[in-house]
Amino acid sequence: MSDSLLQHPVVRQLQTLEATTWFNPHLARVEEGLKQVGLSRQDAQEAEARLQRFAPLLAQAFPETATAGGIIESPVIAIPAMQQWLAAENGAIPGALWLKKDSHLPVSGSIKARGGIYEVLAHAERLAITAGLLTTEADYRILLSPRLRAFFSQQRIAVGSTGNLGLSIGIISAALGFDVTVHMSADARAWKKEKLRSHGVKVVEYAEDYGVAVAQGRREAEQDPHCFFIDDENSRTLFLGYAVAGLRLRAQLEAAGRTVDAAHPLFVYLPCGVGGGPGGVAFGLKLAFGDDVHCFFAEPTHSPCMLLGMSTGLHEAVAVADIGLDNKTAADGLAVGRPSGFVGRAMAQLIDGCYTLSDKRMYQLLAALAATENLRLEPSALAGMAGPQRLSAHYLAQHRLNAETMARATHLVWATGGGMVPEEEMQAYLAAGQRALSAG
Ligand SMILES: *Cc1c(COP(=O)(O)O)cnc(C)c1O
Repeated sequence: MSDSLLQHPVVRQLQTLEATTWFNPHLARVEEGLKQVGLSRQDAQEAEARLQRFAPLLAQAFPETATAGGIIESPVIAIPAMQQWLAAENGAIPGALWLKKDSHLPVSGSIKARGGIYEVLAHAERLAITAGLLTTEADYRILLSPRLRAFFSQQRIAVGSTGNLGLSIGIISAALGFDVTVHMSADARAWKKEKLRSHGVKVVEYAEDYGVAVAQGRREAEQDPHCFFIDDENSRTLFLGYAVAGLRLRAQLEAAGRTVDAAHPLFVYLPCGVGGGPGGVAFGLKLAFGDDVHCFFAEPTHSPCMLLGMSTGLHEAVAVADIGLDNKTAADGLAVGRPSGFVGRAMAQLIDGCYTLSDKRMYQLLAALAATENLRLEPSALAGMAGPQRLSAHYLAQHRLNAETMARATHLVWATGGGMVPEEEMQAYLAAGQRALSAG
């Protein structure tokens, strides 16, 4: 890579593997920033309407969603004991600390139950309507009939994944009868591959990282006109599936008694891999809350692809390997070396900043959350927990967020996964967390 890249002060700090915080100098007012996205409020609302059409089908195919009427959604909860723990360690957090439990989303136990499932549903709907087998007014449960299953079984779906996206897409595709292949990177967990195979999903394993698994999946799909490739790096559809979460949060916070307005700002901390999940959610949040929401992306120190892409403006033209980083992290879903250029550019003026934290810190936070709130998450899902203590005095002053306003703030940590981690695996995470805490 060029010397000028390596002279960049942020890049030099990333190279040290020290925790880094970057505040976005290009942040604009929401009306301005939204113009860069290339997607509209209406697009996000159509995604929500599509999920409503599919709700009866989901309630039938996945009984765990039946009580919510087939809507795949997760609760928000206050985590005051964790807030106290963080305060004792690093100083008080003005405002209230809350958690968004996408870790416990039905069907696949991670944030990927949003984008991944949405994209497969959108694809199934398009195919069935084009074939004259469905109208948008129909009861979508007919898609589960033997006739439609036979129709979908002639169609292939492929995706490249570090684990959680493959899990979501594999499970929903198999439920509809698609012939589905998941290309998995070396870091994907064995239990995820086993679970997929038990659902009848074809799993192809690679010795390389996520980028290679995606490239291979894309190449295979290109050779087969009946194969639909779900492109985690560029998909607008995935992005819109995630955006729905942002739209829904307004009513959720209202129901929980949390006001969000200029005098009660909302801060949201989103673990970031390739960017589609956190980018889509942040887009929905900006639509829902305008300038009153502040969004941050959180990444491992070994895989800061989005921070690198956004801070240098190089987006997908730069990878963490170019600055000598190894992209090795225990945080499933975050081991991504090259960011989505689509997301980086779409969110260039809407994201308040990005920061990195070490795997060790994620493990410490994992153990602390289990001890204080009896909540068990996977390591990546803790990346957001470092956010509230990264807001600099300079940043707060720039946004005219004084102490009085901050005392009314809501800090929402987006917990992105962990609900389906097998017990032995979770015990190993907790033990690693304890060790990380003892090591200090
Ligand atoms: C995929 C994933 C993310 C990040 O989503 P991207 O769309 O890759 O940025 C965060 N946390 C978990 C647990 C994930 O599986």
